[in-house]
Amino acid sequence: MNLSARPATSNAATRHPGPRNSASTGNPGRRLRIAVVGGGIAGLGSAWLLAQRHQVTLFEAGDYVGGHSNTVDVELGGRSHPVDTGFLVFNRRTYPNLCALFEQLGVASVPSEMSFGLSLASPDIEWAGSDLGTLFAQPRNLARPGFLAMLRDIWRFNRVATKLAEGGEMPALSLGEYLAAERYSAEFRDWYLLPMAAAIWSCPTGTMLAYPLATFVRFCSNHGLLQITGRPQWLTVQGGSRSYVSKIVAQLDDVRVATPVLGVERSAAGVKLRTADAVESFDEVVFACHSDQTLAILGDQASAEERRILGAVGYQYNVALLHTDAALLPRRRKVWSAWNYLAGEGAADQRPVSVSYLINRLQPLPFEQPVVVSLNPFTEPAPDKLIQRIDYAHPVFDEDAIAAQAALPGIQGQNRSWFAGAWTGYGFHEDGLRSAVAVAAGFGVAAPWSDKVAAADARGAHRGHEVDIAVDRRRAA
Ligand SMILES: Cc1cc2nc3c(=O)[nH]c(=O)nc-3n(C[C@H](O)[C@H](O)[C@H](O)COP(=O)(O)OP(=O)(O)OC[C@H]3O[C@@H](n4cnc5c(N)ncnc54)[C@H](O)[C@@H]3O)c2cc1C
Repeated sequence: MNLSARPATSNAATRHPGPRNSASTGNPGRRLRIAVVGGGIAGLGSAWLLAQRHQVTLFEAGDYVGGHSNTVDVELGGRSHPVDTGFLVFNRRTYPNLCALFEQLGVASVPSEMSFGLSLASPDIEWAGSDLGTLFAQPRNLARPGFLAMLRDIWRFNRVATKLAEGGEMPALSLGEYLAAERYSAEFRDWYLLPMAAAIWSCPTGTMLAYPLATFVRFCSNHGLLQITGRPQWLTVQGGSRSYVSKIVAQLDDVRVATPVLGVERSAAGVKLRTADAVESFDEVVFACHSDQTLAILGDQASAEERRILGAVGYQYNVALLHTDAALLPRRRKVWSAWNYLAGEGAADQRPVSVSYLINRLQPLPFEQPVVVSLNPFTEPAPDKLIQRIDYAHPVFDEDAIAAQAALPGIQGQNRSWFAGAWTGYGFHEDGLRSAVAVAAGFGVAAPWSDKVAAADARGAHRGHEVDIAVDRRRAA
């Protein structure tokens, strides 16, 4: 692995062949020089797969490789332990490619949990879904008509949405339009569905109202969120997500950390990438950063189609604080869950979601005190309890974004450019890797596990995760 910046090298495009759809010319099967921009799961997956047959250089802007796979060493009471601050959980049912990659790399996982709790300041409501004790941790909820209406609506929504998911055809409505049309209670909306959804997608509750109903229902159905029993066992990477990142990096020849790609020039002859130190030539480029970051790199080089498709998937900025302050957890300890949705006084629909992940519940930690990652906390943790501040961004999906995803295959390989990222799917780790598998397939490189995953999909073992996205795309197209 070469972690240093390298000087510009000569353009090899004319010597190298082109993959399907690509502007490169020559004999298929020749070794190409491919630049991968971005070292998250989408970039790592692309680089690892393409390096089977091609010469790959991975450019990462940050000072570590991994993107949202971001493990931090936390030191408490004289002990140090790795803690994940971004990507944390996955499961065998809906992450088939990721599980296969981990198996291929020899990455071990351990059980995790996905319990959900809610704590509002006004009205004063706290509950968690783990059991009856946490549901009624606030005993007066037993006599609160709104709370009981919420429970009835949870039962109704799960039943109706399961039927919708099984039936295939769904109303072409946004989630908000559907809830209003079906007269779901405000308490169901504000004390359960929107907080849970906003916590999953890390976006304001108001943004979730515009989320396409069909995509939402299919996602919830696939992830077992519409059922009380039979939910998938959630897992987390043993030793933190950097365990898998380092295994991939060890297998790559040329990884440039702290080397943001600043610009690109594409022509019939090849692709020139500009960094602070050099301009280098490649045959093809895989943009595995966020859609808005890719557009910024392309600048006025972006085609009208690229602008339209990439521009349709926006990103929501979220600050994450890693800390040990229990004040950013529900007031009642009984309600503490793996995922805790919090709202202070005067919470508004468009305010960034405030969610605290209690890492002790998500990963096996040797610490007594709570270790928490809070996204957009409505109050700051005590300064002496703050460990690290990290800026993240999450894709935001609406009808236009889903339609843009449907159009994406049309620009793959055009102008020697390929696009990968979790933004091409639901926004999760499996989506990032799946997009990498698709890009590699465009170069004629199959993932070692492709047949196995396809066979399992045909048996319905993954509950149609890929089919599900394909269906949504067809509907949007
Ligand atoms: C707090 C948090 C918790 C999450 N938890 C989960 C979870 O438990 N399970 C799950 O499935 N998903 C989770 N996610 C979703 C997560 O975003 C995706 O799983 C996935 O990691 C995104 O991968 P990506 O490769 O698309 O993007 P990223 O991981 O963001 O990678 C993009 C990379 O591109 C780099 N880059 C940007 N611009 C340039 C440039 N000009 N030059 C070079 N490099 C550049 C960035 O530095 C970054 O490293 C979580 C996300 C966050 C933020």
